[in-house]
This record gives sequence, structure tokens and C-alpha cells, in this order.
Amino acid sequence: MLTRPDVPATAMEGPGHRGLNLEEPLLFEVGHVDATGVDLPKPPAVNDRLGKFARKSSLDLAGLSEPETMRHYVRLSRQNYAIDMNTYPLGSCTMKHNPRLNEKIARLPGFGDIHPLQPLNTVPGALEMMEQLGSWLMQLTGMNAISLSPKAGAHGELCGLMAIKAALRARGQAEQRTVVLAPASAHGTNPATAALLGFKVETIPARPDGTVDPADVKAKLGPEVAAIMLTNPNTCGLFERDIVAIAEVVHAAGAYFYCDGANLNAILGRAKPGALGVDAMHINLHKTLSTPHGGGGPGSGPVVLSDALARFAPTPFLKLEDNRPILVEDVSQAGIGEEPFGRLTAFHGQMGMWVRALTYLLSHGVDGVRQASEDAVLNANYVRARLSDLMTQPFGDKPCMHEVLFDDRFLEGTGATTLDIAKALIDEGYHPMTVYFPLVVHGAMLIEPTESESKESLDLFIDAMRRIIGRIKDGGGAALKEAPLHAPRRRLDETRAAREPKLRWKPAAA
Ligand SMILES: *Cc1c(COP(=O)(O)O)cnc(C)c1O
Repeated sequence: MLTRPDVPATAMEGPGHRGLNLEEPLLFEVGHVDATGVDLPKPPAVNDRLGKFARKSSLDLAGLSEPETMRHYVRLSRQNYAIDMNTYPLGSCTMKHNPRLNEKIARLPGFGDIHPLQPLNTVPGALEMMEQLGSWLMQLTGMNAISLSPKAGAHGELCGLMAIKAALRARGQAEQRTVVLAPASAHGTNPATAALLGFKVETIPARPDGTVDPADVKAKLGPEVAAIMLTNPNTCGLFERDIVAIAEVVHAAGAYFYCDGANLNAILGRAKPGALGVDAMHINLHKTLSTPHGGGGPGSGPVVLSDALARFAPTPFLKLEDNRPILVEDVSQAGIGEEPFGRLTAFHGQMGMWVRALTYLLSHGVDGVRQASEDAVLNANYVRARLSDLMTQPFGDKPCMHEVLFDDRFLEGTGATTLDIAKALIDEGYHPMTVYFPLVVHGAMLIEPTESESKESLDLFIDAMRRIIGRIKDGGGAALKEAPLHAPRRRLDETRAAREPKLRWKPAAA
């Protein structure tokens, strides 16, 4: 292990996880621009057709040998905490497992090598795959229509609200209904989506138990309300048990019910949003159906729609003719009873994610999907039960869904904060949980283990949490301000990094 003189030696009692210890300079700082790792023959004389665009200065590429290059990238990869490395307790996030089978199937030439501009009659298998995925998602959610094309949860929200807007326009109420309701605990994308479409957002408070009261919704409803956006289970990890009553008052007031389905993995195979009165809901394939997540990778947020909104689904959409899937690509091809609001995206959507999601569904079956939801909830409650003697929960110590939410009341008077716990976890070899979200809870810590953690790996994580909190309760809270001690980077000035990003490497002045 590399030791660093600036890191004070601390007695870590843990099982041996430590921060990542290899410092790695940039490729250009390791290599020498005048060296090369390969030996190329002199190029033959060619007729240069670049004219005035021919490069006059040298390329200044870093010259490294193969082992130097490999080591550079392997060391860099070790600075990334990855879902394939250890428990990843980040909340409001889900699915920390990307089955290798998904990857294999997504790379089959019939899926991986086709082009969106290929004539449709050359890709019947891809259409069949889309049809199958769509029908799985509609059946699992109890909804009758689906738009596959949205490319993320937030994009799905946009799709759903645009369908709602189109439905209001068809009723002649688009001008009148300008308000969208959202609970205080809503994910930031909900109000952002509504605002993007010109809606005014009104906040619904939460009850002391962390859920939404239908009476509070009713009080806000009126002829100016277009829709409510509600997450279930909500971002506090609690099931909105009055969801049916909420849907009833919303519909009675002539408004639509948008459900944020980001937490669907807690109820998949157990509850059908369609039966709960939902009109539109996105499904984050990257949160619920095991497609890769994070790092800016492709998301996918198909939207299921109720009968009230189905005909406004955007193009492209699939329909069956003689039992074969046909892709309706343009508004002009719409048939009777179809009034697509337009098109959301170039081409069709995230084909690669659809293949992965369908592979996951087919390899698990309905029983396996239900088991995954149940295990996700069980694991979150195991963490809750084993930490509830040390930590405080904002809505009391009672069962949660797929994620458990703690607040920072237990830190009062210790000198330590939520952020200190997150940073101390890095020293213990863990990625921190989600902190300071949802905003409605002070110093929130949102822990989501997911279904794929074993009891043993949960115990290791819980032990790390107990060690950190134990140290705080023994008066060591102030020392945590130094954490992380074992990571190559310590506390960063995150604001400055965001405001003044350094995006280019410049050679040190000679
Ligand atoms: C992640 C998330 C979203 C947004 O989904 P993206 O796929 O990241 O755009 C919306 N709502 C909730 C509750 C979420 O957790």
C-alpha cells in the first residue's frame, strides 16, 4: 500500500477496506511527447489531399509503452467506485446489478449491429423484441398503452405531461388548466418538467408520517389544475397508502394522475399502478430492470398510459396488424383513434437498454421479478432494523419499502454532520449513501441496498456504519471532519469544481 506523509495514521478497526490509494497523474504527465510505444515504418509517399488543412505542429501525443499504458488505465479504473466492487448504498437509485447475460444478448448482431435507418422489413426481430418488452411492461403495470421512446425518467415525465397537455387540448381545457401539483418530497425533475412545459407548480405538504393526505390534495384541486405528479413508493421510502383515494379526488376534479415510477422496483409484481388509478407513469429501466445506470450512460424511461391518454402517445409507437408489430413512425401515419402529440426523440429510443430489460424480465419471469421486489424491501428493512438503535428516522421506526431514510437528529451535539458520515464511509471502502435528499428531511441519509446484496455484505456495511457512529458517540465527531483520510482526494470544493471546471490540460510552462 502506498503511504502518504500527509495522511495521519489512524487506527481503523474495519475488516480491511480502505480508500483507494494509488495516485495517478494524467497520461500526458506520465508519458513523454517525444517518446513512442510503437515502431512504425516510414509511411509511403502519398498524394496529400489535405491542402491548407494539413497539420503544421506536432500532435504532442503522450508516448507510453504498453505496460505503462495498461497500468495507467487500470489504476484509473481503481479510482472509480463501481457496483461490481462493493455494496453501493446510494438511495433513490436502485439496481446495482447488471447481469452479464443482458450484456451478452444486447451484443447479438441482430440487436447490436442494426441501424435505426434500416428499412423496417429488415428488422422484424427488433420490432418483435420491442413488442414483447412493451407488453411485459403493460402487464406488470396494468396499463393499456406504452411509449418506449423516452430516454430517461425525466424524459418520461416530459412525455407523460405532454400527453396530458394534448388530452387537455382535446377537451378544450389546455388554456385553463395551468397548475401541476407535486408533494414537497418530489424529485427535482418533477417540478422541473412541469415548469418546462409552462405549468405552475404547487406544493402539497406531507403529513407527519411522511405521506400525502388526500384531503391536502383535495384542498389544492380546482378547475385550474392539470395534473398531480406523485412518486410511489415516495422518495422517503414509504408507500403512499392513500394513492387510490388521491387518484379519485384528482379525477373527480378533471385532472390527471402522473405517477413517478422511479421506485417501481419496490412493488413490481406485487402492485399494479393501473389498478391504483394512475394515468401515466415512467419506468426507469436503469433503476427497475437492471440496465446500466450512472456515469452518464444511456437511460431509458418508457411511459405507460391509461385509456384516457393512450391515443395521445407520441410517435413512434407499435401496433399489431395480423398479429405482427407495425411501427407507426410519423403523425401522418396515425390511424383512427390515434392522435399522437408528436415525436419526442430522433429515431426510436434506447434499443440496447430495451434488449437488456427484456432479457432481465425473461430470465427472471414474473415470480423472479416479484421476488426481487420483496428482497429489495427485506434488505432495506434489515439495514433499518440493525441501525435503528443508533440512528433516528424522521417518521418513526416503522417498516420502509426499498430504501430506508434516516435524519440527523442523532448527531445533535456531537459536532458531526451527515456529510461527515458520508465522507467517513469512503475510508471504510464504501460509496456514500444519498445525502441531503429528500429535501424535506433534515440532514437526510437515504440508504438503498437493493435485492442483490447478501446478508453477509449487508452486515459488513452495517458494521462500518456502526463503527463510524460509535466513534462519533464516543466523542470523536470532530475527527471525522478530516475524512476521507485514505482516498487520493480529500474534501473537495465541490462548488468551485462546478463553477470553474478545468476542462483542458495544459503542459506546465517550460
Ligand atoms: C431518478 C429519479 C427521477 C429521474 O430519472 P432519470 O432517469 O434520472 O431522469 C425522477 N424521480 C425520481 C423519484 C427518481 O429517483
